[in-house]
Amino acid sequence: MPIFEYRCKACGTKFEKLVRGNEKVACPECGKGRLDKLFSVFGVKSGEKFTPSSGGSCGGCSASSCDGCR
Ligand SMILES: [Zn+2]
Repeated sequence: MPIFEYRCKACGTKFEKLVRGNEKVACPECGKGRLDKLFSVFGVKSGEKFTPSSGGSCGGCSASSCDGCR
């Protein structure tokens, strides 16, 4: 099951969410749905170091699905 890590664009809260199907994800702090997807984990991490950052680059992301490093 894919676990996605998100960062809220509104308040900057980072959280992980297990997403099933097209479940809607919202920030647990402010309830808003404008999120950056940071990282996805499929069971085992590849050994890349994930560096939490609120800056422009998101360190450990190697996927094109990451909005933080485009
Ligand atoms: Zn938020």
